[in-house]
Amino acid sequence: MKMRNIEILFLGTSGGVPTPERALPSILIKDWNGYKTLFDVGEGTQYRMLKLGVSLTSINLIAITHSHGDHINGLPGLLQTLYMSKRTKPLTIVCDRWSSEFIKEVLEVERIPFTFPIKVVEIRGEGFLELYSIGGDSLTLYWRPSCHTIEGYMFKLVWKLRPRLRVDRMKELGIVPTPETIKKLLLVEGRIVIGKRVIDLTQVSERSREVSISYTGDTAPCKELIPFIKGSRVLIHDSTFDSALAEKAHERGHSTALDAALVARDSGVHLLILTHISARYRGSDVLKLIKEAKKIHKNVILAWDGMKVTLTA
Ligand SMILES: [Zn+2]
Ligand SMILES: [Zn+2]
Repeated sequence: MKMRNIEILFLGTSGGVPTPERALPSILIKDWNGYKTLFDVGEGTQYRMLKLGVSLTSINLIAITHSHGDHINGLPGLLQTLYMSKRTKPLTIVCDRWSSEFIKEVLEVERIPFTFPIKVVEIRGEGFLELYSIGGDSLTLYWRPSCHTIEGYMFKLVWKLRPRLRVDRMKELGIVPTPETIKKLLLVEGRIVIGKRVIDLTQVSERSREVSISYTGDTAPCKELIPFIKGSRVLIHDSTFDSALAEKAHERGHSTALDAALVARDSGVHLLILTHISARYRGSDVLKLIKEAKKIHKNVILAWDGMKVTLTA
């Protein structure tokens, strides 16, 4: 049986300015159907992808949290490379109106005769975009405003999984799992009759499930985000500073590692990943961040460039 794996690859984990170890924000998420989403495109994103052996042309969706330069300045270079590589597959970019303006100007000034359609979806308030439906599995992108110093959004990818047949249950109930019986249960009638017994699909399949990953982009901690994040398996949260610099973090529309952990606890996520790490934390200094987050939420990791987290849906 094909594993439904989702890979989260951190391309850039710094915030504001890069360091020799950390590039500017960008996260690539690839699922078992090969669908690739790029969250933010900090400067240098395409170099990180090349270094990590990720195909540049295979991206399906780019979602930009806000128009601050550290999250968007890598986009013109990436688009230029996609054009040079003769991509034909359409590209969707989901972003706020300011980022949309930036993209329009780049396209106008550079006058590139793109070989592929670029669809810019300009977002406001809360909303969603259905990305695909393949073999009964579907993927949807949701967004809502974050709490930053300028208009910004956080995103959530939600996979709805087609219930899979449980062959063990079928056998227990006396159904021989032939291609015909499977087709009948899954596609034709959703039930099967054996003698006087009627067995429906729900008795021999898993329950339908959802798996989701939330990414805050830049944000100060705010309670409004919690209902949106609730139920996510993974939360990737702004963690620019440690709590000794809480005032500074909040003034600049950012969170501390402690803030991120409180949000993770209150929204009941399984795994918290800290990212957007200030350049002031070098070497073992970053341990401060993970230490304070772990006091509140057990399952925490701190992202670094090139880190890959795989989850099975
Ligand atoms: Zn930032
Ligand atoms: Zn920002």
